[in-house]
Amino acid sequence: MPSDNIKFSYEFFPPRKPEQLRRFWLTVGCLETLQPEFFSITYGALGSAGEASVDIVKDLIGESQTPVAAHLTCVGMSKTELQNHIQRLATMGVKHIVALRGDGIEGQLDHQGNGLRYAEELVKLIRQTGNFDISVAAYPETHPEAKSAEADLDNLKRKLDAGASRALTQFFYDTEKFLRFRDRAVSAGIEQPIIPGILPIHDIDKVIAFGSRCGTFVPAEVAELFKKHSGDPLASEQYAIAHCVDMCEKLQIEGVHDLHFYTLNQSNLAHKVTRILRGEVESPPTVVAA
Ligand SMILES: Cc1cc2nc3c(=O)[nH]c(=O)nc-3n(C[C@H](O)[C@H](O)[C@H](O)COP(=O)(O)OP(=O)(O)OC[C@H]3O[C@@H](n4cnc5c(N)ncnc54)[C@H](O)[C@@H]3O)c2cc1C
Repeated sequence: MPSDNIKFSYEFFPPRKPEQLRRFWLTVGCLETLQPEFFSITYGALGSAGEASVDIVKDLIGESQTPVAAHLTCVGMSKTELQNHIQRLATMGVKHIVALRGDGIEGQLDHQGNGLRYAEELVKLIRQTGNFDISVAAYPETHPEAKSAEADLDNLKRKLDAGASRALTQFFYDTEKFLRFRDRAVSAGIEQPIIPGILPIHDIDKVIAFGSRCGTFVPAEVAELFKKHSGDPLASEQYAIAHCVDMCEKLQIEGVHDLHFYTLNQSNLAHKVTRILRGEVESPPTVVAA
């Protein structure tokens, strides 16, 4: 069911090594041809890749026609440092911030009482500091540290009520879980868009490992099929595309019009899936069912 009213955005991490930088710009160039809504650049927790993130945001704003969203985490920074950072982003021309808590080592999330504890507080600080469009994170399968699914949804509502315009979700592979989460969000009075985060499966073992850390369940039948194709790069790629297209089409049928792709700084899967969803090229012949 190709459609030209779907909107796409693409997320990158800051490249560190020269070969990563080269691949980053190739990926940007390739995805820019799709005229996305925005690109976003992640920001390392505990300030680890903070400068790398700022540098690449600045370069991307200079080089690309696509609006750029800068991620910002509040872990490990004082309130003053955060205010300075937000002002610096404004000076660089950033208009959209993805406001996150980030992940810290045990016991450091309270920032010695000098910083912010949760993303909700960061949203408020950004609002006080400048005029930004703000996105926040949402978790269809519940954030691993949340007391309950209800408490996590309350937190999302507080972040949106504090001034965020949309939520971008953690990646997931069970579309029903996203759709039920969206239903619960609507019942809780959330009116802002909840945009699904899509991670095409480039490497099933890495995706399972990453998913287990952030609470994303990979259905057994999906894992088995990917593992069956693992020795055959062409078949794996075709299956990854077909699987991702199938998932996005299920979302489209349910009225989802925006998709946020986690690219891992590789254009291949995100580019092909986007073009198929737009009806510009045919889906590969791989059958999704077992
Ligand atoms: C789209 C997206 C982009 C991301 N980009 C980055 C990035 O660039 N850099 C990075 O380091 N990480 C990134 N992350 C990961 C994110 O930082 C982690 O998932 C982090 O653990 C939580 O961040 P948050 O903003 O959702 O936190 P919060 O919304 O603050 O929630 C964190 C946890 O605390 C709970 N909580 C919130 N408020 C309270 C309260 N008052 N009392 C008790 N519990 C509470 C929540 O339910 C949740 O369990 C991203 C995640 C997503 C989904």
